[in-house]
Amino acid sequence: MPEEKEEKKIEIPEEDRLLASQFLERLISTPTVTGMERSAEGVVRELLGPYVDELRVTGWANYVGTINPEGSKSIMMVAHIDQIGFIVRSIDDKGYLKFAPVGGWDPKVPYGCRVKVLTKSGPVYGVIGTVPPHLLKKEKAEKPPEFDELAIDIGADSKKEAEEMGVRVGDYVVVDAPYRELTKYRVVGAGFDDKSGVATIFLAAKRIWERKSELRDVAVHIVATVQEEIGLRGAYMVGYELKPDVALVVDVTFATSPGVPQGKVQIELGKGPAISIGPIYHPDVVDRLIELAEEKEIPYQREADPRGAGTDTWAIQIARGGVKTALSSIPNRYMHSGVEMVDLRDVVFNSMLLAEYALAYAESS
Ligand SMILES: [Zn+2]
Repeated sequence: MPEEKEEKKIEIPEEDRLLASQFLERLISTPTVTGMERSAEGVVRELLGPYVDELRVTGWANYVGTINPEGSKSIMMVAHIDQIGFIVRSIDDKGYLKFAPVGGWDPKVPYGCRVKVLTKSGPVYGVIGTVPPHLLKKEKAEKPPEFDELAIDIGADSKKEAEEMGVRVGDYVVVDAPYRELTKYRVVGAGFDDKSGVATIFLAAKRIWERKSELRDVAVHIVATVQEEIGLRGAYMVGYELKPDVALVVDVTFATSPGVPQGKVQIELGKGPAISIGPIYHPDVVDRLIELAEEKEIPYQREADPRGAGTDTWAIQIARGGVKTALSSIPNRYMHSGVEMVDLRDVVFNSMLLAEYALAYAESS
């Protein structure tokens, strides 16, 4: 029997791993439910500020950092900084908070989560509760509860007490899930969609910054967009405003996970960014990304996408007469839960690929 060929271990330099982990931890620790992205200004300035010539925050808090702003051509790298969460709808007499989802939640997820209510006077901690299954009829107990059957319990006994704790109708809520390294490369937390993308474009900015003189006549915009989770709204704004020659979008994509049938999902954690191929991804940009990945020996995966409506790419592609777009995604397990999992290697490889693209584009234009 032929000896089984040992699969080559995919590794990244330790300093890249550490930096990616640091960036992700900072971003994950800053809650940015859609609608409250302005709260990320400090962390964006801290992480991206050193690697751009200019950094501005637009009226709706899209963050736009630019390297080599004098360039007459431009590339935009985009990832959304908002994350799904909840909003407090009412406080009942018993002090329970009724809430609504902000962004698309899997209905199985919220019950049993620890949460943080982001009040004006600071975080208030709570849990999401509902009727225990033992007290329900069998058919009901087998189904996940509806949103209006759930409530946030902050430990208050009355509406008055909840208000005294600082909670108001309209406060945003996030899942309280800290950043954790499970192994050298695998990390979990809430909001890797799309903070792993934000970390990727910031790390790409650092790589480009270090070789800035090679940019020649090309400006590179590093853009963290708002309100992706409720309909790509920030991307519509910046796509129109900046109208770049090329837009490279980074979001997350489904990675193989327990129970997902093979063939349905074939993207794996740790095997490099998934480059999307399909109608809304411009073949010039996609082919070049693949060529560069091969040439520079950056691991990547191919992902077929027949439509593409789920990411900022969808909005930017049609901005003002059209933008050449591509999407290279970070493989993610358990998307839109409090335990999203990504692999640091994918973040690092994707940042390498984006930087190589920008520098090669500058060289050939
Ligand atoms: Zn996303």
